[in-house]
Amino acid sequence: MKIDLKGLSKEELEEHIVNFGEKKFRAKQIYDWIYKYAKSIDEIKNISKDLKIKLEENFSFTNLKIKKKLISKIDGTRKYLFELEDLNVIESVMMEYKHGVSVCLSTQVGCRMGCKFCASGLDGLKRNLKASEILDQVLKIQEDIGKRVSNIVLMGTGEPLDNYDEVLKFLKLINDKNGLNIGYRHITLSTCGLVKEIKILANEKLPINLAISLHSCYDENRKEIMPIARKYSIKELIDACKDYIKITNRRVTFEYALIENINDNKEDALKLASLLKNMLSHVNLIPVNNVDENDYKRPNKKRIEEFKNILMNNNIEVTIRREMGKDINGACGQLRRSNS
Ligand code: SAH
Repeated sequence: MKIDLKGLSKEELEEHIVNFGEKKFRAKQIYDWIYKYAKSIDEIKNISKDLKIKLEENFSFTNLKIKKKLISKIDGTRKYLFELEDLNVIESVMMEYKHGVSVCLSTQVGCRMGCKFCASGLDGLKRNLKASEILDQVLKIQEDIGKRVSNIVLMGTGEPLDNYDEVLKFLKLINDKNGLNIGYRHITLSTCGLVKEIKILANEKLPINLAISLHSCYDENRKEIMPIARKYSIKELIDACKDYIKITNRRVTFEYALIENINDNKEDALKLASLLKNMLSHVNLIPVNNVDENDYKRPNKKRIEEFKNILMNNNIEVTIRREMGKDINGACGQLRRSNS
């Protein structure tokens, strides 16, 4: 398989170019064109025909196609359906806030984590995305909206830590000063709780935001809705988060999808407060979003407020996630592989 030109760092590209017997500065020219939205090697300007042929012989060039684009009439949120080279499709979402443009990216085609309330895993995992395919979601969205993307959330389809190497490569690419230069502090990685990989990630010491999909504070209950809980206990997960905070000095976010009669009573809130006591953390409550294939329901407004108040009264920092793109099925857990 050919190496993907778009997935190379500037330094790696320099190495290849020098090996071709070319001057090093050619690599910078090529690299710049990637970020000026070149669609193919042929669209890289200012290089000789000869070098283009060499590049084409040795490299592939990821170029996602926008297959469908839905724009919310409520808040302008955009959902993109991208077609990959092998004709698989993935979804990404663009949200515009006062403070900038945020994009929610997919890291895999499908997902094998099998969380019961989530649409992304309904068809299982098809394959991992390459770093270049994660990056190209940002490039294509930025080109489409004509504005700079300022925040990245890895909360689309897939489990980022189940595709560790390519996700890490992507993080380094997107942060590169010569590329899109998006600061690590503007990037959030969300995981359902792969403890082993959280420990490895902590030692990379990247100042990104880590978000944990917790959704229940009781092992037995969590196992019912999230199969990963059969592999790691809540205690192991929280201990890994505590280590993460110690090593990185970064606050960890806990996502908690509120599901009626599953995890939304007073005891659940108190248990969550005691679990996170004195931890550098933040809770993000997500009233569960509708997915046709299951019948989980969100609690009513009053119950959601009560849950939040219990946390607040116990000195836990908490927010309720703002819903974006409601009319285009753009919310958490609604992204999927099949084009329906
Ligand atoms: N695999 C990663 C990232 C993708 S999901 C993870 O599990 O964190 C992004 C967030 O949406 C997670 O917190 C996930 O649990 C949540 N989510 C999934 N389905 C949802 C639904 N139907 N309603 C609300 N949140 C949901």
